[in-house]
Amino acid sequence: MIPWPELHLRARELEPALTETLSRLPATDCGRRGACCALLPPMTLLEALRLGRTAMGWPIVDRLRLQCRLVEYFLENAVRIPGCPFLEGTLCRVYETRPYGCRAYGLWSGQAHERQARASAAAKKAVHKAWHGLGIELPRQVTHHRPAYCHQVRARMGPPVSDQDLEAIGREVRALSARLGPWDQEFQTHYSGDLGFMLTVALLGMNTALQAKVEVTREILGRGKCGITDQWTGLARATVLGWGDETSATSRNRVQSR
Ligand code: SF4
Repeated sequence: MIPWPELHLRARELEPALTETLSRLPATDCGRRGACCALLPPMTLLEALRLGRTAMGWPIVDRLRLQCRLVEYFLENAVRIPGCPFLEGTLCRVYETRPYGCRAYGLWSGQAHERQARASAAAKKAVHKAWHGLGIELPRQVTHHRPAYCHQVRARMGPPVSDQDLEAIGREVRALSARLGPWDQEFQTHYSGDLGFMLTVALLGMNTALQAKVEVTREILGRGKCGITDQWTGLARATVLGWGDETSATSRNRVQSR
């Protein structure tokens, strides 16, 4: 059981240090086309909890909408590129508290971008293989999706930041998150640093979340659309963004006993 209250408390204590570390990345301007926001960014648990706290300050209807979008994102991202759940049109709804990955995007050199794209392609190949083992062939536009290098991001002031500086800041963010204890590593190894995955598991439990994803994936590949996703996001709509609070546990039990 994830100790949410304790995690949130520790994350709040670490937040000033996280803000200070991220502030060493230069403020940037970009074309705001949202092209790099096609996917939910990889993030640390500390950053995920900060996004959760940001959303807790929103009107409840917006929170529920985000919660549904995160669940939908997790359920459908094997078959389509859904767009980051925090993207509204071409604007980021959490711009001030967006994770390191989003802040650094476009600041890397072309060579570093290429290295990261190759690592990401290798990871996608492994995912493709796992689905193949279930008898499911994922579409090429997903397995070969690769965000283009962005030439539009510009640091507002000061000299360009080097790849080494970006790496050092990334290491500091990860070190801060590691102070949350074993759950930080758990978030990376069990949830692949995917906030949508973690939230869906908090709502449905691990087995049901994975079964739902396979069911939705088969349905979309077979029929080109999915009515099942709505059933699952309906459950998400039935509870507020508590990420593991009692309401979520009650809803989960209700679905699992169906
Ligand atoms: S969090 Fe914001 S900046 Fe990052 S990918 Fe999502 S919409 Fe884009």
